[in-house]
Amino acid sequence: MQGHDTRKSHVLIAGAGLGGLTAALALLRRGFPVRVLEQASELRELGAGIQLSANANRALFKLGLGDVLTGVASTANGKRIRLWNTGQTWPLFDLGAQSVAHYGYPYLTIYRADLHAALVDAVRALDPLAIELNAKVETARQEGEAVIATLADGTTRRGDVLIGADGVHSRIRAGLFGADDAVFSGTMAWRGVIPASRLPAHLREPYAVNWVGPGAHVIHYPLRRGELVNFVGILERDDWQVESWTQRGSVQECLADFAQWHDDVHTLIRALDQPFKWALMLREPLPVWTRGRIALLGDACHPTLPMLASGAAMAIEDGYILARCLDEASGGPAAALARYEALRKDRTARVVRGSAENARRFHNPALAHADGAAAYVDREWNEERIRERYEWLFTYDVDAIEV
Ligand SMILES: Cc1cc2nc3c(=O)[nH]c(=O)nc-3n(C[C@H](O)[C@H](O)[C@H](O)COP(=O)(O)OP(=O)(O)OC[C@H]3O[C@@H](n4cnc5c(N)ncnc54)[C@H](O)[C@@H]3O)c2cc1C
Repeated sequence: MQGHDTRKSHVLIAGAGLGGLTAALALLRRGFPVRVLEQASELRELGAGIQLSANANRALFKLGLGDVLTGVASTANGKRIRLWNTGQTWPLFDLGAQSVAHYGYPYLTIYRADLHAALVDAVRALDPLAIELNAKVETARQEGEAVIATLADGTTRRGDVLIGADGVHSRIRAGLFGADDAVFSGTMAWRGVIPASRLPAHLREPYAVNWVGPGAHVIHYPLRRGELVNFVGILERDDWQVESWTQRGSVQECLADFAQWHDDVHTLIRALDQPFKWALMLREPLPVWTRGRIALLGDACHPTLPMLASGAAMAIEDGYILARCLDEASGGPAAALARYEALRKDRTARVVRGSAENARRFHNPALAHADGAAAYVDREWNEERIRERYEWLFTYDVDAIEV
């Protein structure tokens, strides 16, 4: 642990996901000693894509990841809406396509594994021992001015501050604030990645496409400089309620769920290597995220439906602002964590609510027939409505916030 400032708090982070690693990187760059405790025995992400909007990239680029991310990601030329049965296409006014000009940072579509690897490499370049594997945190408690994490093997780790970045099923949250209040949303997501070489040319074009229909929608976009295509199919279906990154389904089952849809959707599904199933749960944002020297971050405190594609972006912003608060806020670690929570709560709650609204928009019954659909798309995806829904999200600047 070279180069750490001994006057700075020793920070324990439970979870080496996208949020925990961003926090670790931001803290290490400011000279904090950091130990990330990760339950997994090896660091790897599942095959899935993720959209990174300008606000997320603003934070990641400021942490030095600009070159590596632009080298491995894709940039869509724009967005298209397509109608579920006829395939009718509407080119959209797209904030993402104008991202660099408007916001100073690109809108990237990236393979999760590539983003995760970039964060792991950057953390380890600053401290090769910062990430501890096989370290499942069972409980966290504060004793005087120390925090103590107890791991599944019975050993303990001590620090000055502990951050629960342990995802949607957070143990740290359960220990601090009790049982989860998740309610099944009635929708599930199919996810998978397709080698682009398996697809016809028109499905490989560098566009993010959002198919909309009654009770379901499908999204696909390029990853890894166009070598891969990410597929997400979300539908109202109430017999699948397991929320997990690793539950496998079959191509046949996925095809059956989109049986009436356009041939292009079937072509995408048939080309999937392995479709995964994920039940989408609704949760109210937590009213409190912090107790003394222990705080939560990312999905541990504000898990969201994926319809604004911003869950990871919020975890990334959290990590950056957390580091700023611990470094810049006055009054000691507990006051810094309280300040972090106060700065992040309204914005992340707005993402949770906005995602639920988008679920209703994408699956609207008005989309069932071509006539009604055209009017609905013109109303909901015109320039003004898109700005209303996304401008506040993309303009957020992690360095401009007063800490
Ligand atoms: C279908 C789908 C599509 C999505 N698309 C997007 C998108 O396009 N853009 C976007 O911004 N977001 C998207 N998201 C949301 C995004 O994936 C999450 O918000 C993000 O991964 C949250 O990051 P996190 O670090 O909080 O949690 P996670 O990434 O879940 O990381 C948690 C980490 O903690 C570890 N862990 C768990 N428990 C313990 C423990 N007890 N001890 C130690 N370690 C532990 C886990 O192994 C994991 O490494 C999507 C989500 C879904 C379901």
